[in-house]
Amino acid sequence: MDQDYDFESFFIGGSWRRPSQTSHRLTVCSPTDHRRVGSAPLATPVDVDAAVEAARFATINPSWSALSGHERADQLERLADELDKVSAQRAGLTSLQNGMPIAVARFAEGDAPVGLLRYYAALARSTPTEQTRPRIDGQGSTVVRREPVGVVAMIVPWNFPQVLTMFKLAPALASGCTVVLKPSPETTLDAFVLAEAAERAGLPAGVLNVVTGGADIGRYLVGHPDVDKVAFTGSTAAGRDIGRICGELLRPVTLELGGKSAAIVLDDADVADLVTGLATASLLNNGQTCHLSTRVLVPARRHDEIFDALDALVSNLRIGDPLDEATHVGPLVSERQRDRVLGYIATGTADTSLAVGGAGRAIPDRGWFVPPAVFGRVRNDSALARDEIFGPVLAVIPYGNVEEAIAIANDSEYGLGGTVWTSDPDAGLDVARRIQTGSVGVNYFDLDVGAPFGGVKASGLGRELGPEGLDAYVNLKSIFVR
Ligand code: NAD
Repeated sequence: MDQDYDFESFFIGGSWRRPSQTSHRLTVCSPTDHRRVGSAPLATPVDVDAAVEAARFATINPSWSALSGHERADQLERLADELDKVSAQRAGLTSLQNGMPIAVARFAEGDAPVGLLRYYAALARSTPTEQTRPRIDGQGSTVVRREPVGVVAMIVPWNFPQVLTMFKLAPALASGCTVVLKPSPETTLDAFVLAEAAERAGLPAGVLNVVTGGADIGRYLVGHPDVDKVAFTGSTAAGRDIGRICGELLRPVTLELGGKSAAIVLDDADVADLVTGLATASLLNNGQTCHLSTRVLVPARRHDEIFDALDALVSNLRIGDPLDEATHVGPLVSERQRDRVLGYIATGTADTSLAVGGAGRAIPDRGWFVPPAVFGRVRNDSALARDEIFGPVLAVIPYGNVEEAIAIANDSEYGLGGTVWTSDPDAGLDVARRIQTGSVGVNYFDLDVGAPFGGVKASGLGRELGPEGLDAYVNLKSIFVR
């Protein structure tokens, strides 16, 4: 690492502003070898107040909200160009901070945010601000306007910090909102690299502001009197808390929360294709991805065959330095997360009714590594099947017939992702239609920037991505004209 990631100021109102308390700092260490990656000031409520005030000022002066879609699109494209120049740096910084394998980070954290900005720039150009409709009663017309909601508080997690920020930032900017971003303490540094790019791109002052901190400062931002909307990605527990605060304030909120999705393996699925697909659909980013299909539902008669194939998969994944191109599985983000996941593995391993695969492999002696594990003959009412473990741990659950498989898939607190595996895509689509979830893949899972993404049940409220992603950042106003 030849870059200095020690930041002294927050990005507020278009410039770098010293924190209100200079002794209050946050250090980010690598989960791979615990070396220091960098540091940043920690915000106090005084800093958050300044950031919200700057975001408010920018809605009116210079009037970001009043720019045309074309003018905003030009700005988004300039930001995309600047981010593109530092794609490799941003991807590497994510890997350094959270252990994401670099082959994943290069696309997901480096390139994808740039593509998202360009996609929403195009939508900013093509989405009309006003539509004039004839009244239903035939008495004149109504102008329906899309107006930006105003100042948006954005709170993001550590697992995909750059791209999950952009899920929110790109449509918010395209819609004419201004933003106060609070990244996770674990991955704070890349948010400053984003701010530097915004500065180089000449994004108008106050349109993007970055402050730091943990849950306490996040809560303060969520409840700030001058915030108009909250966009949150993170755990269901924090989402419930944020939802409560926003409910009391009657403040619009989007919540992208946890998941425990099902892979339904139909009787005709090819085991080799299944295992190749699940390596991504169930284990991406060391198992720290919200939509993963971590409950693998298999026909009872094929249980042992599929369990053995998954045992071979997890046993052969290459564990190591996330900056090494060949690594499949890096460390988990933190000691706390590692201990939590090891706890589930220990409980599963101690249960003699389960088949156990993977779990005992050697791992590097430094870093928060967890050997990927698969458990067989898991019951859907056990903690292994119900809790979001957020690590490389799979639960194989046998089922009797397809109706039972669908019932098991839907018997979950969550509803975020999911997959169906079959050699008959039409049959897969039929099953996919019946899963209570926000998104589901047939024979693979990969988000589509052009289609909405989000959860049902405890997986969240609202949608991101696609043209629908703009809707979270606009208020609709009807003007009756005669
Ligand atoms: P987390 O909820 O602990 O933290 C997320 C962010 O919220 C952090 O910035 C944190 O500082 C802040 N925060 C925590 N409590 C808060 C509160 N009460 N008020 C305001 N801010 C608060 O989650 P995490 O451990 O960083 O991330 C992992 C979780 O995120 C998993 O549950 C995962 O499923 C979820 N996630 C969901 C999606 C999705 O799109 N649905 C995507 C990625 C991750």
